[in-house]
Amino acid sequence: RWSSILGADLQDLAPATVFDQILAKALPSQVVFENDKVLAFRDIAPQAPVHILVIPKRRAGLTALRKASREQKGVLGEMMVAVAEIVRQENIEGGYRVIVNDGEEAGQSVHHLHMHILAGRPLAWPPG
Ligand code: ADP
Repeated sequence: RWSSILGADLQDLAPATVFDQILAKALPSQVVFENDKVLAFRDIAPQAPVHILVIPKRRAGLTALRKASREQKGVLGEMMVAVAEIVRQENIEGGYRVIVNDGEEAGQSVHHLHMHILAGRPLAWPPG
């Protein structure tokens, strides 16, 4: 199917993002974790020594966390479990932060739900 080759999702009418190109392997990425529901790869502009993005493979309307519905709790749970597995794999159990930027005022620029994992330096609180 062209839709899967292009990474498009026929139930998702929002414009495709750079993450669709990453999912379609049309853009290279450094994958650190992958299963049938979730992909995680290193951020191209790291804000910490470890900066990983965790995304659902099928966006299905999840342009942002605020769009989540109860039907999507499976993939949302998969993302959280993936974080735990990545944290163990990356040996950052000493401290890390998970961030979801939702909305323009929070600095969201890619409209495909993603969790940032940051680690490897002191993380100030509150975040900026
Ligand atoms: P912001 O761009 O302000 O950090 P987001 O929370 O939407 O807002 O995060 C999008 C993230 O995607 C950014 O950290 C950005 O560096 C990252 N990114 C953009 N393009 C790529 C890419 N091709 N490969 C890896 N990461 C990317």
